Amino acid sequence: MSKYYYDLHIHSCLSPCADDDMTPNNICGMAMLQGLNIVALTDHNTCGNCETFIKVAKKHGLIGVAGMELTTAEDIHIICLFEHFEKAKAFSDEVQKYRLSFPNNVKLYGQQMYMDEEDNVVAVEENFLPLATSLGLDEAVALARSFDAVVYPAHIDRMANGIVSILGTIPESPDFSCIEFNSSEDIEKYKNDYPKICDKASVINSDAHNLWSINEAENYIELDDEPYSSDLVRHRLFEYLKGGTK
Ligand SMILES: [Zn+2]
Ligand SMILES: [Zn+2]
Repeated sequence: MSKYYYDLHIHSCLSPCADDDMTPNNICGMAMLQGLNIVALTDHNTCGNCETFIKVAKKHGLIGVAGMELTTAEDIHIICLFEHFEKAKAFSDEVQKYRLSFPNNVKLYGQQMYMDEEDNVVAVEENFLPLATSLGLDEAVALARSFDAVVYPAHIDRMANGIVSILGTIPESPDFSCIEFNSSEDIEKYKNDYPKICDKASVINSDAHNLWSINEAENYIELDDEPYSSDLVRHRLFEYLKGGTK
């Protein structure tokens, strides 16, 4: 077993609310400096920069994970992570069908940029990405799982777009195997209030929209990585996130 320090909720410059310098190379460079091992890219309602991100992560000696922060019709944020990029891409294409066509206000929110491995802008997304999709919570989770995603509610300890603040509870359905916290501070309080999350895996992610918010090497998951390969580590990570008891 080895310790893997992680941050599984990071936005790139494809998210309008993220800084323009959240490029794949800058994110991975900072993650490396922070001592992280596994990083996931989770832009709003798209996996558009994930292929580049995974390649750049590999160059930096990191294990990159493709993901998306999906906004449900109820305005709840859920994180969808994919062991295999191809599934993320197919899911991202599917989600397009459920996104509202509404132009991005560049002056207000900034550009939404698709990047290549050298941090060049290869395209700009015109539609404002973070808006609520027309997918209800149950439907969104079922759809993501049909693409083999592991899905967990994002930052349940935050008011904005957290499942608890919006629904007033953690619902019985859908059943999540993992819960995301933004901070370790109130985890015990949430476990007291919602005992059913006690036996679930939990992760503490930064939701970084700027470089200095990316997690330091504080939170780790212990994974059995013998015989070592990055694919095995990624696989074990998904087993942990899907599996439960921690
Ligand atoms: Zn969020
Ligand atoms: Zn986020």
